[in-house]
Amino acid sequence: MSLDSLPPLREVIAQHGLGANKAFGQHFLLDLNLTGKIASLAGDMSAAHAIEVGPGPGGLTRAILAAGAKSLTVVEKDDRFLGALEEIGTASGGRLDIVQADALQVDEDALLPAGGERVILSNLPYNVGTLLLIKWLEAEPVWWTRAVLMFQREVADRVVAAPGGKAYGRLAVISQARCQVRMGLKVPARAFTPPPKVDSAVVVLEPLPDNERFEDVEALGIVTASAFGQRRKTLRRSLAQAAGQTTASAEELLTAAGIDPGARAETVDVAGFRRLAEAWRAAKTG
Ligand code: SAM
Repeated sequence: MSLDSLPPLREVIAQHGLGANKAFGQHFLLDLNLTGKIASLAGDMSAAHAIEVGPGPGGLTRAILAAGAKSLTVVEKDDRFLGALEEIGTASGGRLDIVQADALQVDEDALLPAGGERVILSNLPYNVGTLLLIKWLEAEPVWWTRAVLMFQREVADRVVAAPGGKAYGRLAVISQARCQVRMGLKVPARAFTPPPKVDSAVVVLEPLPDNERFEDVEALGIVTASAFGQRRKTLRRSLAQAAGQTTASAEELLTAAGIDPGARAETVDVAGFRRLAEAWRAAKTG
């Protein structure tokens, strides 16, 4: 059997009794045109090993394989989907590796074949989407070359946000200090079965080269938590918590980073936060 001759997803779901389970954040994409569009955001995958988190009944899985990925490893927590996924594996000519596990716990680097491009694709379970993104953003050494990830629209907006607006915060700074990011595709809630309460969007991330990527994620995490934790205050006040772990005052850290202590966090660009994290690290006690 080839990928083209697999039965429609609705049939697979009925046959295997795969009703959506809310506890696992299950909202399925059954339109193979749409999953094809999402997979195409990964570009040419003919030399790439792909990994998909939460394949569910396999709509995106089929599209990734149809797009020609060299291999695909899927990580699914819910064992009800294993039968349907095995059928896809057979139709893929042995390119699919199925792992039943919690994606938060797996070591992706060890799961994937060594070398070459490694692409992450996922219609992420909403309840763990941000945690998984942070896990992948902070991974060092960086084991992946591109990520194509569906989030609730509000989270996607926060990943790609520019300074100055409400969406700009920790997630934008950490994402953009580590990766080049762009909005790939907006997807309305009605595209899912069952439809979630909110719209979604696909974000494309590519890790920055080693000499441009900000390495000290601990320092960046601490200064952004402090700065955005009280985002309506001026940085001179909101940064007091982070400064408490250093020999410097908030004002001194900000001045060292070339940032106006009277500014608010949302006006400081990613480069500013990188300098602030460096100043924090340089002044840190212990
Ligand atoms: N990819 C499918 C699609 O687009 O139709 C399903 C997407 S659904 C939003 C999220 C999927 O992630 C479900 O299959 C769910 O069982 C799975 N999932 C939820 N939490 C997970 C976890 N921690 N690790 C692995 N898979 C998980």
